[in-house]
Amino acid sequence: MADTGFIPKEKWKAFIEGLSTKAQVWVPCLEGDTVIFRPFSKERNLCFERPANSSPKSVIFPQSDTLFSFKFTKDPETPQKVEVELTENKDFPKTILFGARPCDARGFTVYDRPYTETDTPDPYYKGRREQTTIVTMACQTSWAGCFCTSVEGGPADKTGSDAMITEVEKGYFVEPITEKGKSLLQEPGVEDGSAYQGEARKEQDAVRAMVRKPFGDTVRPKVSKELFDKDEFWEEALAKCLSCGACTYLCPTCYCFNITDEHQTDKGERIRSWDGCMYYHFTLEASGHNPRPTKFQRYKNRVGHKFLFYPEKYNNVIACSGCGRCIRYCPVSVDISEIVSNLQEPGAEAPAQGGNDKKAGSASNG
Ligand code: SF4
Ligand code: SF4
Repeated sequence: MADTGFIPKEKWKAFIEGLSTKAQVWVPCLEGDTVIFRPFSKERNLCFERPANSSPKSVIFPQSDTLFSFKFTKDPETPQKVEVELTENKDFPKTILFGARPCDARGFTVYDRPYTETDTPDPYYKGRREQTTIVTMACQTSWAGCFCTSVEGGPADKTGSDAMITEVEKGYFVEPITEKGKSLLQEPGVEDGSAYQGEARKEQDAVRAMVRKPFGDTVRPKVSKELFDKDEFWEEALAKCLSCGACTYLCPTCYCFNITDEHQTDKGERIRSWDGCMYYHFTLEASGHNPRPTKFQRYKNRVGHKFLFYPEKYNNVIACSGCGRCIRYCPVSVDISEIVSNLQEPGAEAPAQGGNDKKAGSASNG
């Protein structure tokens, strides 16, 4: 069997349709002006021309997830005695996340460390992760706000992907990365890709050169603890923030959640839902005390988690994949890359001025 594959353009849709007969396939779809991941069906308007507005994290970490349901039964003879019956929701279907971007796939590896690589893995995240094959599309250009190459990633970075697809002139070049990804080469319509490898590499290198470098030539910014601790810096940087939380919801590496029980009289469900550290109530304690009552303290924590605390805990890995979504879609244009540039250790490379790609200059182009 060949090591790589090739799908001619005219067979592309049939290839995805074929996958959908074997697994639940999530694809980026155009709905109005928005690109969003949805389960594949023939009626969907698939869109691979630009990254989805929201990351596909919900495929493995649903926005609202029923963990289990419960039912109370009282003993009619001794009403003090109550039996509780729990039914876990662990039916995870075989899934293919198709058309994620390299920054999205890297995002799942940020989840993996706290959610699976611990003594107490999260069974819901782990179960879905194991059942999911991540097929990534290498980016064909860079987009407003992107800075993946400044946080160890890139437009064809393979971290977290099971297979990578690169668009070439006549079709799509397929590179398997894991055993799961290799199975794509056996799908009907996939030809030997070896003749297209050179063209795919050239495409990938060309896009890499387009990506904006907000921290100069460094591939991993080092945040100064001294600068980070200055509250005046944060107050000024976050003066215009609305605390809307959009940055956390769209981010492929934000994983805060809340748990609630929804009751009816004798039964109910325990539900895990996304939450965000940009909300006032996220840290509000039952006593009324709130350790992060202001928006600047909350954003400071968000940046600190991604660029200081997570790297400290996990071998210097930065918990931001530079996807640029929080920059593109922040309603008041708070720019995390600009903020981190201003927090770099004194003596680090001076931040580069703006982007060098025609699509990377304005946050309205995303
Ligand atoms: S998206 Fe912008 S305005 Fe909304 S919470 Fe994030 S930084 Fe603040
Ligand atoms: S912090 Fe912003 S740029 Fe970084 S991964 Fe999250 S949304 Fe993307």
